[in-house]
Amino acid sequence: MPHADLVVENGHVITMDPDRPRAEAVAVRDGRIVAVGDTHDVHDLKGPATKVIDAAGNTVLPGFIEAHMHLFGGATQLDHLQLFGIRGFDALSEAIRDYAAARRDKPWLIGQGADYTILSVGERVTRHHLDRIIADRPFMMITPDHHTAWANTRALEQAGILRGKRLGPGNEIVMDADGLASGELREGEAFNPLIELAGEGRTRLGLSTGGEPDPYPTPAEFAADSAILRRGLAWCASHGITSFQNMDGNLYQLQLLAQIEAEGDLICRAQIPFHFKNFMTLADLEKASAMARSYTGDWLKSGMVKIFMDGVLDSWTAVMLDEYSDRPGWTGEPLFSPEFFAEVATEADRRGLQIAVHAIGDGAVRTVLDGYEAAQHANGRRDSRHRVEHVEVTTETDIPRFAALGVIASMQPTHPPGSGGFPLEPTITRIGRKRWPVSFPTRTLKEAGARVVFASDWPVAPIDPILGIQAAVMRKPWADDLPDQRLTLDEAIHAYTVEGAYAEFAEARKGRLKPGFLGDLVVLSDEIEETQPSQFMTIRPVTTICGGRVTYQA
Ligand SMILES: [Zn+2]
Repeated sequence: MPHADLVVENGHVITMDPDRPRAEAVAVRDGRIVAVGDTHDVHDLKGPATKVIDAAGNTVLPGFIEAHMHLFGGATQLDHLQLFGIRGFDALSEAIRDYAAARRDKPWLIGQGADYTILSVGERVTRHHLDRIIADRPFMMITPDHHTAWANTRALEQAGILRGKRLGPGNEIVMDADGLASGELREGEAFNPLIELAGEGRTRLGLSTGGEPDPYPTPAEFAADSAILRRGLAWCASHGITSFQNMDGNLYQLQLLAQIEAEGDLICRAQIPFHFKNFMTLADLEKASAMARSYTGDWLKSGMVKIFMDGVLDSWTAVMLDEYSDRPGWTGEPLFSPEFFAEVATEADRRGLQIAVHAIGDGAVRTVLDGYEAAQHANGRRDSRHRVEHVEVTTETDIPRFAALGVIASMQPTHPPGSGGFPLEPTITRIGRKRWPVSFPTRTLKEAGARVVFASDWPVAPIDPILGIQAAVMRKPWADDLPDQRLTLDEAIHAYTVEGAYAEFAEARKGRLKPGFLGDLVVLSDEIEETQPSQFMTIRPVTTICGGRVTYQA
């Protein structure tokens, strides 16, 4: 037998292969796994040119598959002011001033990860707070969910929105009684112009418009964008990620990644969707089909349509069946009518495309499931694997429909308030006590037969899959009488590997360590099965291997 290119040995290998759940060694040749077994099983595969990695008795896993993230946005924001975990005016003030002082040449300053209660549970941020911290330079900060931003007066003036502006449904420049903007900007139409002014417009292009850069980037802009994506890919690899499903996209992102691949530098496998917006027509789906036809590789592919049905709970833009607990009479505004969504779903499904829809409120989740059902009626049942992204609130009625319709629940274990770093308030009050039992219902959905896939939604939450696994295993209920939504360690790993592969129709070649599968794996710094869940975060990826090539080494 010819020698392997790479061997990982002396590991505690969790293969996720039911035929051989545990092993010590994995050998890879020509990008594929050729052996999984004991250290002596791979001995004969080691030749003079074989790269041998000693796992030192630590855990080896299939490479993580991150099933919902935003590469371009996440990578740009690696240089933003990171406000995740900052609490109170003084701490915020210090963080902004330090950041501003360190970046005197930056005309615009952007912070991210500022949660809705960054000042306190009772006090909402306004431009006046921000002006007290920094008034002479435009500053804005974005919530972790990227559905709300706050800007200082200078930023609002430069964007020409201090006196407000009419926006499409679901988007809002919040106005004060004095007729001036309060500083709070809800949803993309409200704050994207500011991001544009900050010179980062193109990085949200696929998200905000679903369209292509116009005019087409110059070679210098293309190179700058490519450099951003490369930073993002390296960030993924450093967290043990070997594949990701991006949740915004356009042809431009595919072209950038194809160029990176041609230069031999694509270090994570990427799926890039077509982003369908509510102002488009059914004919626009031809572009999604064209992208699906053009990009079909193991490293770079398309084939998915991404849609937003609603916003988020914290800004009352998630669509609920019944009124918000803290806003009588208000249920949110859907971004698509049920009729139009059903038409889009039916047409995308007819084209053989996979559909992934952001739906956070129980009203949005229902509309999406109804649309998938309509598509099934119209086109006949096929192995479509359509997805609902987030599923933060749903109903007893809709939970069994996931399994019945074959719909994947794409969930983010760090997102439930109180689990992975997000505060309990205002979210749990907004949801209201009677909806708590069906909120973030990870285990409930699993027990009802749904396929549950995990992701971070980076940069909404940190990209780290180990943080996600920890949050899933340690999930705490908001009250004693609520169903236990925790997963076991094995189930959590499953949701980051096997289910991620299933979600992209690749379960026969990735997500498990098994001969014939792609050589995608990660060696950790410790033995995760011997570690207390509260200590999982001390475990770090040491070596990430994608297609048999080392893509990250600690
Ligand atoms: Zn997302």
